[in-house]
Parts: sequence; C-alpha cells; structure tokens
Amino acid sequence: MDEVLILGAGLSGLGCALSLPNSRVFEATNHSGGHIYSHQVESFSFDEGAHILHTKNPEILKMIHGPGNEIILIEQSIVANFWHGHWLTYPIQNQLYELPLENRSAALTDLVSARIQGQTRKPRNYLEWCRFQYGKYITENFYAEYTAKYWRVPMESMATDWFEGRLITSQIPQIIAGAFSSKDERQTIFSQYRYPARGGFYAFFRSFYDGINVTYNECAVEICPKEKMVIFASGRREYYNMLVSSLPLPDFVGMVKDIPPAIMEASALLHHTQLLCVNMVVKRPQLTRKHWFYIYDSDIEATWVSVPSNFTRPLQTKAVTALQAEIFWRWDEIFEVDAIIEQTVRDMGNLLKFDPASELITVKPIFVPYAYIIPDRKRAAAAKGILEWFEERDIHCTGLYGRWKYIWSDEAFYSGVQTAKIIKSIR
Ligand SMILES: Cc1cc2nc3c(=O)[nH]c(=O)nc-3n(C[C@H](O)[C@H](O)[C@H](O)COP(=O)(O)OP(=O)(O)OC[C@H]3O[C@@H](n4cnc5c(N)ncnc54)[C@H](O)[C@@H]3O)c2cc1C
Repeated sequence: MDEVLILGAGLSGLGCALSLPNSRVFEATNHSGGHIYSHQVESFSFDEGAHILHTKNPEILKMIHGPGNEIILIEQSIVANFWHGHWLTYPIQNQLYELPLENRSAALTDLVSARIQGQTRKPRNYLEWCRFQYGKYITENFYAEYTAKYWRVPMESMATDWFEGRLITSQIPQIIAGAFSSKDERQTIFSQYRYPARGGFYAFFRSFYDGINVTYNECAVEICPKEKMVIFASGRREYYNMLVSSLPLPDFVGMVKDIPPAIMEASALLHHTQLLCVNMVVKRPQLTRKHWFYIYDSDIEATWVSVPSNFTRPLQTKAVTALQAEIFWRWDEIFEVDAIIEQTVRDMGNLLKFDPASELITVKPIFVPYAYIIPDRKRAAAAKGILEWFEERDIHCTGLYGRWKYIWSDEAFYSGVQTAKIIKSIR
C-alpha cells in the first residue's frame, strides 16, 4: 500500500511531492503543470490566462534561476485601461485628469463626501469597501462595471478577503493630484515581473517535475474514504494511507462515496469563473507597447488582454504580435464560443488598429473550465467545513482549487509544501 497519493500535477502537487519523496502523483492529463501549462501556437507560448512571476520570495527566485533557465526581468510593466472608447492610464482613480471635467468633479466630490462621512464600521462586502475607498462615482463607473464583466456576480455578494496583490487601495493625494495633471504612470500593481525567455510560464517549473513520480492520463473518478481507495477512469485502483487532492473542490466532493448531504450542500456554495482565452498572432511588429490592458465596456466580451510577445520583447525578432484576450463567464453561464471568438478578433482589430482579414495569421482558443474562485461571502465558511470533514478522514486538500481560495503560483507551490508538512507531522 502506498503511503501518500497525490491527485494532480499542478504546482501544489509538485510542492507536496518534492517534500514527500516516496509519494506518487496521478494526473488526469498527459502533461504536468496544471494551470501553469503553456501552449505553443505559431512559435509563441500562450499560458492558460496570462501568467507573470511577480514573487519576491527568494527561495522561488533561486529555484527558477537554475542552470539553463533564461529569464527576462521586466522592470516596468506597461498597463492601460480601455473605457468607453478612451485609453486611460492605470489605475483609473489616480489618473482622473484623463476624464472630461464633469466626470472628474463628480469623482472628486464623491470621494471627498465618502471621506467626510468617515466610516465607523468595517465594510461588509466588496461594494461597501469600494464606496468607502473611492466614493460612489468611481465605484459605479469603474469598479462595478469591471466586476460585472470579470466576476459576473453582484458586488454586494462578494467578500473583502481577496484584494491583497490585486487591488490598489485608495491613495488620496495621488487621486487628487491625478485629477489635475498627468502623474506617475508606474503605479501598477506588479511593476516588476519575470517571464521565461522561451516556453511560456511553464518553463519556470518544467524541469522540477523530473524529480517526482507522476503517472499521467489517470483521471480520478471515485474516492472511497472507508476503503482508503481511489478509482480512476481507466479502472485502476490505488490504496493510500494519506490522500492529497489538488482537484477543484466541488469536483472532488462529487467523487467521494457516501458523502453527507451537508457537505454536498456546502459544496454547492463554491463558485468560480470559466475562462476562454482567444490567442491570436498578428502579422504586425509590436501592435502596442502595453504588456496588458483592461477593458471595461460591456459590449466588448474580452475583459483583459495581454501581449505575450512584449513579455519576451528583448528577444523578439519576428515581425508579429502575439495577443491573448481573456473572456470570463460565471460557472453556470452558457455561451456561444464560436461567435465570441469571431467578435473578439473583430474587437481587437478595432482597438489595436489591424485588419483581421489580411493580418491575422492564426487564432487559437483555449478553454479553462476552472479559472478564478469567486470570492463570495459564503466561500470561506463553506470551504472550511468541507476541508475539516476530509481531514478527519486522512484526505488533505491543497493548492488554489483544493483549498478553494485564490493564491498566486508561488503560493500554490508552498501550499503543497505546507500540506506535506502537515502529513509528516501526523505520521
Ligand atoms: C486566469 C489565471 C491567471 C493567473 N495568473 C497568475 C499569474 O500571473 N502569476 C501567478 O503567480 N499566478 C497566477 N495564477 C495562479 C496560478 O495559476 C495558480 O496558483 C496555480 O497554477 C495553481 O496550482 P494548483 O496545483 O493549486 O492547481 P492546478 O494547476 O489546477 O493543478 C491541479 C491538477 O489536477 C489535475 N486534475 C484535475 N482533475 C483531476 C482528476 N480527476 N484526476 C487527476 N488529476 C486531475 C489537473 O489537470 C491539474 O494538473 C493565475 C490563475 C488563473 C486562474
């Protein structure tokens, strides 16, 4: 009987397996990496939604700077917003001078009244947090509009435990100064980041999989906690002392035999977005200098667009641009993929001024069924109850989708390391 079985060869599975040398990993697909896998299209690498490494963790930096890894350090990201036909500098609230006068004064008036009113209590949800931080105008015209496209749930239903590393909090002096004249454009949330010279984000970690024991093309379909057994789609059966799962928690709950109704009910409260990446290669050198941009307009499906050819710009010799447009849907939404791809190509042509009919070399979509965990207010309690139930049965969930809380790639790796520590302390 195996001591520890790990389900999933993403970064959390990797971190866990490297810390537990005799463990075995079972992966449903034919490759490692999970969500950090990069796809090759026309000699470009496209991630499953743009990935950049902005960690400052010295251990991770040492790890990725290993022999043979050529890495590009981008000292200053170039980021923009597209809002109602205008290109605006990021973050919008610090560059209000770019808006017409009446919008600027409305934004400042609301910001000041939010501050004068003073907040005597903690915000109960994301909507309140934004209103307390930025006032009504900025909240309604920017944050609410973007949330509707990106998270696709009401702001009132969202918690306030997910902003770290994702939102810039209100900086009053910058907002006021930025309402009068052009200010520092280097206020992006990740100004400095790293990206592999070749092979996409996956290339940072690919070689580490050589050090662990992974069996590919084995998709877990049933978990029997009483027998301590996993059944795979192939019919294979594996027994464990301890099971680690990095699978999306709602999928995993659905596989467990004799699961109590209360756990199933808690699982139904876990929500996520789905992602369609429309990857394009355009016959035009550097269509834009931007590394990525956000799109607020509701009549454009894409929410955020990255330019992978600019991540590796110093090495770029080809007279083409690689673009990735990301489109999000709620877990329960149904969508017309082909029509959306067509529209997205047209929209990108309009925004970046190219002619898809003559200049688009290729378009290749990638669909990601589990993208972001929606940080709604019921998430934390629901996930906690499920994870505790599993732990009592020697099943440890790990990683982004296993713990059901958003984490960056380096944190996913350490989530696996942490799970291994817990297992070692129990054995
Ligand atoms: C759109 C998006 C953009 C992101 N951008 C960044 C970024 O810029 N920088 C950054 O640092 N981080 C980024 N992240 C976060 C990063 O991708 C994750 O933290 C990390 O990849 C999660 O790793 P994981 O091992 O927890 O999960 P996963 O990578 O999902 O690993 C789970 C594994 O389980 C496998 N699996 C699933 N079902 C089964 C089954 N039934 N049986 C066996 N195996 C199965 C899957 O194939 C997968 O390999 C981003 C995340 C998203 C969603």
